[in-house]
Amino acid sequence: GLDLRGLLKRNWLLIATIVSVLLGIGLGVLVREYASLSQLDKQYFGFPGEMLMRMLKLVILPLIVSSMITGVAALDSEVSGKIGLRAVVYYISTTIIAVILGIVLVITIKPGVSQETDHIDRTGITPNVTTVDTLLDLVRNMFPENLVQACFQQVRDISIAWFQTCWCCLNITKDYKIVGSYSDGINVLGLIVFCVAFGLVIGKMGERGRILLEFFDALNEATMRLVQIIMCYMPVGILFLIAAKIIEVDDWEIFRKMGMYMVTVMTGLAIHSTICLPLIYFAIVRKNPYSFILGMAQALVTALMISSSSATLPVTFRCAEENLRIDKRITRFVLPVGATINMDGTALYEAVAAIFIAQLNNFDLDIGQIVTVSITATVASIGAAGVPNAGLVTMVIVLTAVGLPANDVTLIVAVDWLLDRFRTMINVLGDAYGAGIVQKLSVRELERMDVTSDVDLTNP
Ligand code: ASP
Repeated sequence: GLDLRGLLKRNWLLIATIVSVLLGIGLGVLVREYASLSQLDKQYFGFPGEMLMRMLKLVILPLIVSSMITGVAALDSEVSGKIGLRAVVYYISTTIIAVILGIVLVITIKPGVSQETDHIDRTGITPNVTTVDTLLDLVRNMFPENLVQACFQQVRDISIAWFQTCWCCLNITKDYKIVGSYSDGINVLGLIVFCVAFGLVIGKMGERGRILLEFFDALNEATMRLVQIIMCYMPVGILFLIAAKIIEVDDWEIFRKMGMYMVTVMTGLAIHSTICLPLIYFAIVRKNPYSFILGMAQALVTALMISSSSATLPVTFRCAEENLRIDKRITRFVLPVGATINMDGTALYEAVAAIFIAQLNNFDLDIGQIVTVSITATVASIGAAGVPNAGLVTMVIVLTAVGLPANDVTLIVAVDWLLDRFRTMINVLGDAYGAGIVQKLSVRELERMDVTSDVDLTNP
């Protein structure tokens, strides 16, 4: 028969999280209806949620550094090259599939045709950002000039948090410059590049390298134990996070006005996550892709609640390693990179949003421009950091590339907090499927290493 108690016991955290999401929504609606909170009260109300975010962000740095270094050092350089290549091929191809899916949907559904947009103010300056700027910034970020600074570097010129709260900021900001891949003040991409290089060197150092490898491996284990403790607090944090959000949003009417646009994005995300990615996974791994999604459930709910792939990373690790039993040599290598550059949901969203804005402007895109949208949407998703609303910021690249007014981003800002959550969820799912697929493709190398190597990360 069904072992209900066992099921509850194994999944208590997931169940508690889902219950707290529902409670949080209920609490939010109640407080909205019956209490009138002052600005300060609202801030206090959001405090427990803020604490959850702080704790999750806190572990990102030691987690990324320790997992990347040990992940790379444990493989020999030839194997890590192969695994890296497979991961990149997976990232790029799934991102392009997502973009194409988004374009097909937005062109068929036409959410922006004959929609009135008078209710939205769209005056302002046009930020000058080009694809070249973004690419250069991306490369610059890969090579930070100061490693310590890279750990707490602030986003230049524009604060993303500011973006979240002020939705006419494009009218105010001057010298707007996009800085890709900064997550919560950490230059993740720069750290990753450094850790890969460092890991490769350590792997070649023999006995003396082992000391460092063991140090970082222990650091990783300690961090993951911290994560386990933080996760116990998660249901409480999430309850208040979602309740505070519901209390804070004051324009619900906008959802009706933007309905078709949101339906288009959501349909795309749904198809990508329940059909495209599972099909690819099944074709390669030959295992049930939907029990894979169930195994990732905790991370997916987290992503939905906090709209940040980087802050979800600790949970993504736990689900992939504990529930899905993906080899640590793969997860440590593939997940941090994925959280930073592989964003299927964001890419799909950027393509849909750009063409939606074109439709609002009665702007007919020719085939060349549609190709431009798909390329820039891919670049923009790679350049976007794994933090809330990052995709909205890099959206400007896509718009300017096809000659649309960049400040039309303001048209879609009001609903972004909701879409952001869903696209982040798909970003995280895409990273996890990537780890599963790369593991399957690398079985032979991993097995060979089990025999020859004396470094054992699987049983620390
Ligand atoms: N919030 C998304 C993420 O963290 C990025 C985006 O804004 O699209 O994955």
